[in-house]
Amino acid sequence: MDCSKLAEDGTPELGMEFNSEEDAYKFYNKYAFKMGFSVRKYYLNKDKDGVTTSRRYSCCKEGVKRKYKGDVMPKRTRAPMKTGCGAKMVIVLFRGTMKYRVHDLVLEHNHELHIAQCTHMMPSQRKSHELMGKEAGGMGNVGYTREELKRYLRTRRERSLKYGEAGMLIDYKFFGDVITFDTTYKTNKEYRPLGVFVGFNQHRQIVIFGVALMYDETIDSFKCVFGTFLEPMCGKRPSTILTDQDLAMAAALSVVMPKTFHGLCTFHIKRNFMKHLGNHYKENSDLPYMFGACMYEFEEVEQFNRVWETMVKKHNLENNEWLSGLYRIRDKWATCMMKERWTAGMRSTQLSESLNTTIKNNLKLDHDLVQFFRHFNRVVDEKRHNELIAEYEMRQKLPMVGLRQTPMLVHASETYSPTVFVAFQNEYGESTAMVILRQQDAAIIVEFAVMRYDGGPERIVVFNRNDLSVRCSCKKYENEGILCGHALKVFDTVGIKIIPPEYIKRRWTKRARARDCFDR
Ligand SMILES: [Zn+2]
Ligand SMILES: [Zn+2]
Repeated sequence: MDCSKLAEDGTPELGMEFNSEEDAYKFYNKYAFKMGFSVRKYYLNKDKDGVTTSRRYSCCKEGVKRKYKGDVMPKRTRAPMKTGCGAKMVIVLFRGTMKYRVHDLVLEHNHELHIAQCTHMMPSQRKSHELMGKEAGGMGNVGYTREELKRYLRTRRERSLKYGEAGMLIDYKFFGDVITFDTTYKTNKEYRPLGVFVGFNQHRQIVIFGVALMYDETIDSFKCVFGTFLEPMCGKRPSTILTDQDLAMAAALSVVMPKTFHGLCTFHIKRNFMKHLGNHYKENSDLPYMFGACMYEFEEVEQFNRVWETMVKKHNLENNEWLSGLYRIRDKWATCMMKERWTAGMRSTQLSESLNTTIKNNLKLDHDLVQFFRHFNRVVDEKRHNELIAEYEMRQKLPMVGLRQTPMLVHASETYSPTVFVAFQNEYGESTAMVILRQQDAAIIVEFAVMRYDGGPERIVVFNRNDLSVRCSCKKYENEGILCGHALKVFDTVGIKIIPPEYIKRRWTKRARARDCFDR
C-alpha cells in the first residue's frame, strides 16, 4: 500500500505502511495536530538485532489515575489529566517488505479535543510550532501600515478611536453584557485621557472591547466616544457599565445608553475616600471600616442607612460635601441598592488598572500614536493569548471535583469553565452547611427559610413547583449568574440533582464561544 496517497487525507487506516518508525510517528503526530490531541509514544519491542518490531502511539489521556489502596488518602497536588482514552495506533514490522504496518487502530476519543488555536500548545507539537512562530514574525504582528493608520484616524472625529475590529466585536457579542469604561490613564497634564472598554470572559479574564484617546472630558466628547463604541456593535447595549465618578460621563451615558445601569467603580470610590477624608481620621479610627461595610456588606437598605447615619454623626461629617454627594447616588455603588443588578460579579474597573502600567508609558504625544496603537495591539493579542492558554488547560486537565458521587458537581464540572466551576463548588459546599428553619407550603409556591447551621442571616428561598424555578433573597444568581448555597440547599431538598438549564448562564460555560471561530 502506498502511504503517500493515503497521507493526503491524513487519517490513519489499518494496513497503512510506513518506511520507518519515525515516518509513522510523524504521520500520526500530524494527524493528532489536526484533530487536537497529544501523542504519547508507548511500548517498543525490539528483536535481538535491535530492530524495532512493534510500537504503540497513544493519546496522552490514556490510562486512569490509580486508586489509592490504603488508610490515608494521598494529597492531591495536581489536577488529574487522564480519562482512560483508548485512541491509539499500533505499528508492526512486516518482515516481507521490512515496512511498518498499522496493525491496530482506534480513532475515537472519550474527551473533548483541543481547539485549532491551541493545538500548538500540546506537548507533542511544541517544538515544531516554535519554529513556525519565528517564520511568521511572532505573535504581535500589526495588521496595517503607518499610512493606513493615519488615514483611518483622520476619518474619525475623535481621530483616535479604535473599535470595531472583528475580534473585539466577537468578544463584545459574547461578553459585552457587563463592561467597564475607565479613563484613569491620564496621570499628568501632558497625557491625554485614554478610555478603555473592558470586560470579563468565561474564565474571568480581561477582554478588551475598544479604546479611545480623547482630547478632553466634556459631555460631548463622552457622547461621541460612547456613540462610536456602540455603532459597530449593532447598537447592542450593555446591561451594566461601571465607571469612575464623573459628572460629564454620567450625563453622556444617560443620553447614549439610557437603559444601561451605570454603576460606580468601588476602587475609585475608595481612592477618593482617601483623598477627601484621609486627613479626617486617625490610624485606628473605624471610619474606613464603616465606610467599607456600607459599600460591600449590608444587604438591607435599613441596615445600610442605620450604619451610614451613625458613621456621619460619630465622625462629624454632616457638612462634608463629597460624602453627602456620594450618598445621593448610593444606588450606583452600595451593595444593598445593586442586589438585583446584573454585574457578573464585577464591582470595579480595577481589572483594567492592570493594563495601566503597560499602556501608559506609550501614551505621550500625538506623533507617538502609531507606536501607541502598535503597542496596544500587542496588549490585545496578549490578552487573547491568555484566553487560549485557559482554553487549552481546560481541555488538558480535568476539574478537581471534590465529591465525585455528587451529580450536581459532576454536571457543573462538565458545564462551567474551570474558574466558574470553582466558584460554583464553593457555593455547593456552603449549601451543605445550610439548614432549613421553616417551610411554608402553598399549592404551587413553597417558601423556605434557610440559614447556616452556625448562624448568620436568614434567607428566604421561593420555590415554584410548576416551573421548578427558585428565587433567593440574597440575589446572588441575579447579580453574578451563579446559584447560591441557599438555592442549592432547596434544590437538594426537593430532589433536583442537576443544575436546571435556566440557571446556566452561557457566558460562564465552557461553550461560551460555541458557534464562534473557537468552535471546532
Ligand atoms: Zn484521547
Ligand atoms: Zn441565596
